[in-house]
This record gives sequence, structure tokens and C-alpha cells, in this order.
Amino acid sequence: MFFVPSHSGPERHVPLTVISMTTSASVPTEPEDATARPGTVTDRLVEANERYAAAFTDPGMDARPVLRVAVVACMDARLDLHDALGLELGDCHTIRNAGGVVTDDVIRSLTISQRALGTRSVVLIHHTGCGLESLTEEFRHDLEMEVGQRPAWAVEAFRDVEQDVRQSMQRVRTSPFLLHSDDVRGFVFDVKTGLLSEIDPT
Ligand SMILES: [Zn+2]
Repeated sequence: MFFVPSHSGPERHVPLTVISMTTSASVPTEPEDATARPGTVTDRLVEANERYAAAFTDPGMDARPVLRVAVVACMDARLDLHDALGLELGDCHTIRNAGGVVTDDVIRSLTISQRALGTRSVVLIHHTGCGLESLTEEFRHDLEMEVGQRPAWAVEAFRDVEQDVRQSMQRVRTSPFLLHSDDVRGFVFDVKTGLLSEIDPT
């Protein structure tokens, strides 16, 4: 993604072409670069998994989520869904993408979640400072100019996060494929305070 996360200071949304032209003089001071340690990032993840598996015991869980809930959220790195919602392993289905957008593929996952794995409730979570607020559908045009091919997918950029939650709830509620659309609630997660604000669907 072309979003530059802000560890300090205001959001910076810099197109890739601009990043490559950025001079060192304009780069803000960042904490120690975690990617600068030896080995690739993926190597470190695999090592962490070895430690995880060494202490792992099969919890003997069913694949059906205990709380019968599916959470659709933005992939934003600052949003720890399990901690933020008090969820534990096995509690929920987690469906994440850029923006927490209710795409056809999210509907596919929700349909399987409800019809094959027994979930009944849907929780949608967008958040403050989302990268999609700084993009427009021009992104697709720019991609086409760069690579010679326009993506088939919509960017799903938005201007008003609350309105985007509302229209996302609407997409879930009106899907003909879902069994349960009576308990669909939408929220905005504040990345500065950790608090959720519920969005009135109307
Ligand atoms: Zn986001």
C-alpha cells in the first residue's frame, strides 16, 4: 500500500513516486528501523512461530466461532481487534482488507461464515486516519498510466468515514446471500484513544 504510517505527527499520505524522490533532509526522524535487523522479516516470523509451536497445545476447538460473530475491519496495523474487543481465540471470524470495505469477496466470506460455520452477528469496524480517506478513484487511473492496465477492482476510497460505515452496513443488510442481517452494527475505532464509536445506521 502507498500509505505511510504515522508514528508521530500528522498523517502523511505520499504517493509512491513521491517517496522515491524524497530527499533525506525531508525524512522525519523515525524510531529504530525494525526491518534493519539481520534476516528477512519473514525469517523472523518463522522463528517466532517455532517458539509459539513449542509451547502450543491443541485447544481442541471447533471451527465454528464461539460467539457466532464475524468482524469485518480495516487491515490497519494500529487496530488490534482481539485486544480492542476483548476477543479470545476461537471467538470470531475476522475478515480484513484495506478500509474494511464490504466487497463481493467480503460478502463471500460472510456467506460462508453464516451458512457453513454458524455465525449470526456482523460487526463492521472502520477507523480514524484511514489511508482510504486520502485516495480517490484516480488511483486506478494512475495505476493504468504506470503499468498499462486498469485494475478491475474499485479503490473504494471514501471522504466521510461515518457515511462509509453506513453504506457498508447497508451492503451487508441487503445482501441476498446472508441468512442473518438483523444484527449488523458498525463502528469507527479511534486510533488515538482506542475507543469505538457506534454509527447510527440511519
Ligand atoms: Zn484503514
